[in-house]
Amino acid sequence: MRVCVIPGDGIGPEVLAAAVQVLRVVAPDAEVSEADAGWATFQRVGVALPPETLGAAREADAVLFGAVASPSHNVPGYRSPIVALRRELDLYANIRPTSNAQQRSPDGPVVDLVVVRENTEGMYIGRERLEDDGDTAIAERQITRRASSRIVRAAYDLARSRAAAGKANPTVTIVHKANVLRVSDGLFRTVALEIAADYPDIRTEEMLVDVAAMRLAQHPERFDVAVTTNLFGDILSDVACIHGGGLGLAASANLGEGRALFEPVHGAAPDIVGKGIANPLAAIECVAMLLEWRHRVDAAQRVRAAATAVLTHGPRTPDLGGSATTAAVTQAVIDHLAQ
Ligand code: ATP
Ligand code: MG
Repeated sequence: MRVCVIPGDGIGPEVLAAAVQVLRVVAPDAEVSEADAGWATFQRVGVALPPETLGAAREADAVLFGAVASPSHNVPGYRSPIVALRRELDLYANIRPTSNAQQRSPDGPVVDLVVVRENTEGMYIGRERLEDDGDTAIAERQITRRASSRIVRAAYDLARSRAAAGKANPTVTIVHKANVLRVSDGLFRTVALEIAADYPDIRTEEMLVDVAAMRLAQHPERFDVAVTTNLFGDILSDVACIHGGGLGLAASANLGEGRALFEPVHGAAPDIVGKGIANPLAAIECVAMLLEWRHRVDAAQRVRAAATAVLTHGPRTPDLGGSATTAAVTQAVIDHLAQ
């Protein structure tokens, strides 16, 4: 198994170093290589995603990605490397699981949901322009049958595999705003309902995005798999992640045909960079997701069990109310793996 590690900027290198340490313990055969991308790379070589990095990502069986800082102003020639990687590798499905298993009160509701976000089109195609001497801004939103059908299929396949693993009442919630975006979300909805017909074993529900945001905030336990377009998925997955213990724990996968990139949901966290206190558990959960994707289910479960033990008994980083360092938390995870 070849794993390409792209640490990036900010706390990316700090949390990925932890992730790689864990990976080496549970998958000693993994060949790990490192590649550069991000804002620091752009400042050094003039491009945020060098061709060697793209090549290394293509060659690898899976990519672990840290975080990249973006310039706050519009810098000519700078393109976000993660957006470019998603496009170049055609990683069309962004999978963001949220579970409260690690901080659930004994009689509290069980939150175990996944937001499946379309990753290649929608509002993210970069077609924005000014008209009317700069007084009108127009953004184009692209929805295609091809992208809609493959993302909805990915959602139903995921619901099916979760059901096979014991999840009761498998459900896909199709989230859209077709009452307003009649043409674009109209197409997404039509295609989604066509695909739904191929999965009679999975319950289908439809929800307008505003209703979905409120329900995700109030009743996350009522969701299983929610599938939606790019921008809505970006927003809804951040809402959902509140129930999973916050940014320090949230991990995501970007999946394409035979390709996968795993990244923590958090960004470069410039306010804590270099302090050695970044929570490594989101990056470590990325390792579990990577192993699962490679069908190394036992290794994935070992990583999760170790992370859960550390969350329960400590040590914890400051974002979770503790005072431990990244290194101490990582070492505690590794100690649990050795037990
Ligand atoms: P970016 O523009 O790269 O997304 P950001 O300023 O939005 O950067 P995030 O990385 O998204 O920062 O983090 C938001 C907040 O959460 C920051 O205060 C950051 O310190 C905190 N945070 C994010 N990730 C972690 C982590 N792994 N451990 C501890 N705190 C974190
Ligand atoms: Mg951020």
